[in-house]
Amino acid sequence: TRVRVMELEESPNVSFDMIGGLRNEIEEVREAVEYPLTRPEVFEKIGVEPPKGILLFGPPGTGKTMIAKAVANRANATFIRMSGSELVHKFIGEGAQMVRDLFLLARERSPSIVFIDEIDSIGSMRTQDGTSGSAEVQRTLMQLLAEMDGFDNRGNVRIMAATNRVDMLDPALLRPGRFDRILEVSLPDETARSDILKIHSSRMNIKDVSIEKLVSLTENMTGAELQSICREAGMNAVRNNADYVTFDDFIYSIDKVTKKTGSSDIMYM
Ligand code: ATP
Repeated sequence: TRVRVMELEESPNVSFDMIGGLRNEIEEVREAVEYPLTRPEVFEKIGVEPPKGILLFGPPGTGKTMIAKAVANRANATFIRMSGSELVHKFIGEGAQMVRDLFLLARERSPSIVFIDEIDSIGSMRTQDGTSGSAEVQRTLMQLLAEMDGFDNRGNVRIMAATNRVDMLDPALLRPGRFDRILEVSLPDETARSDILKIHSSRMNIKDVSIEKLVSLTENMTGAELQSICREAGMNAVRNNADYVTFDDFIYSIDKVTKKTGSSDIMYM
């Protein structure tokens, strides 16, 4: 059952060119996570400690997991993802042990990158429901802090975390020596949307589709939504037995994705 809460991939199959926009963010993560694994001697020579943990925050579906996987790929590292919310909801009573296992596994499979998704589920200041879960959640968080304090910045395990709500996090997590680098991953701007649309339509047979117009029709959309727009446009062409994906297919899919996600983007603006 543990497999479900921890997902392990050797050198995941995501590369930087599959990510649209986010160039500065990628560079920051490389500095904090990849270079300490691939060029530890540089840090040694200069005499600087790499940050221990880096926290990515921003709306869901903006590429946080992708960045972490691409960095693991570049560093030839094992990528170990744990979902904070699954941990809390599915492993009641086992949270602290799971965190211990996570770090044990990370050391065993090093070089490795631990990616804790939805860290707010275990590291939130206020507990949302005040049920018996909260003492347990507190123990899980304590274990995470202990694990982070207990290992060395120069080692070959790097820690990343992601959240949509950095404002809710327990300040204990953000202290020096823990997640002391915080990086915002925001909604894609026009150039990034154009890149993302091109990436996700690159293998599609498209005809007379103005990416520029699509960019202006997709303001405030996330990378995940743009991906699903491309897929839905393609599906529509399949449905119509067409030879190409047309601009109208995209208009249809933008409409469909907009309706489905509804007001969700308003929450993050
Ligand atoms: P969550 O907080 O929900 O885990 P996330 O920020 O980690 O979201 P990802 O899992 O990285 O988001 O993105 C989901 C999918 O959306 C990706 O697999 C990819 O197909 C697409 N996507 C998101 N952002 C981008 C981007 N910047 N460039 C290309 N594709 C993207």
